[in-house]
Amino acid sequence: AKHKGKSAWERFAPEMEELSHERLQMESRMRRALELEEFELWFQPIISAADGQVTGAEALLRWNSPVMGLVMPDRFIPLAEETGMIIPIGRWVLEQACAAAKRWEEATGKALNIAVNVSPRQFRDPEFVHSTLQILSAINMPAERLELEITERLLLDNSIEAAAILQELDSAGIRLSVDDFGTGFSALSYLKSYPFDVLKIDKSFVADVLASNDNSALVKAIISMAHSLNLTVVAEGVEEEAQGDFLIANDCDFVQGYHYSRPVPDADFLTWLRGH
Ligand code: C2E
Ligand code: CA
Ligand code: CA
Ligand code: CA
Repeated sequence: AKHKGKSAWERFAPEMEELSHERLQMESRMRRALELEEFELWFQPIISAADGQVTGAEALLRWNSPVMGLVMPDRFIPLAEETGMIIPIGRWVLEQACAAAKRWEEATGKALNIAVNVSPRQFRDPEFVHSTLQILSAINMPAERLELEITERLLLDNSIEAAAILQELDSAGIRLSVDDFGTGFSALSYLKSYPFDVLKIDKSFVADVLASNDNSALVKAIISMAHSLNLTVVAEGVEEEAQGDFLIANDCDFVQGYHYSRPVPDADFLTWLRGH
């Protein structure tokens, strides 16, 4: 790469400049987005395989930018991570998500669980556990109804520190879930050493579940392994009825995906909930 360095640089430099300009612009817009109230949470129901009832929802962040339109999280979460802005943004997400679950309960009598994604930087913030517990008590929400979704990636480095934080959250009664299971290429041993409650099968496995016998076998094996470790299993990204049927027939506990509902804004979620 060293030998090719110069010509590569000459070829890509203008693009890089443009990229970093775009990045800086995005960064300064993101810094103002919280106070300008441009962030929004959308919600996607999580459905019990046993009876088809909705038991919870996952909160998914959207950035409603007046300049850029509706910005999806994959476009700004990585930058929010790098800059540390994910810490105040993540706190806002937790507050809003718990408050929404509380409102739904008041409106419909249904005490749903709320699942919130937590990124590594946010998780390692020394204030994280404390501020999460504070939010729960301010809203008067039982810890058991909050589920934090964490990726395997988070456990890769410095796992001793991560273990201590997971223990604290677990002792407080908060439920912990492994998100995107199967994409992290990590050793499976962490599943028994950390206090996880839920395993979310990544949507890439769900998409292929009926594509071949090997894929079906793999998903069945994940479900039975999770159960033998006392983990509840959620399949995400269920787009087709046949995928849902297969998963439910093979003991998957919860399903989530476009087939049941896309993520929707708060008001639409409440309407959806009233009809279910
Ligand atoms: P994720 O946690 O794996 O969330 C599931 C993603 O799959 C969501 O994308 C959701 O809209 C999408 N999805 C749901 N059902 C289906 C389906 O049937 N088919 C397909 N193809 N996709 C489906 P979204 O909302 O764009 O979020 C992308 C990622 O951004 C999330 O992946 C999560 O890692 C991250 N993210 C979202 N909200 C937050 C947040 O509040 N905090 C943090 N730290 N990360 C977030
Ligand atoms: Ca998730
Ligand atoms: Ca637990
Ligand atoms: Ca996921």
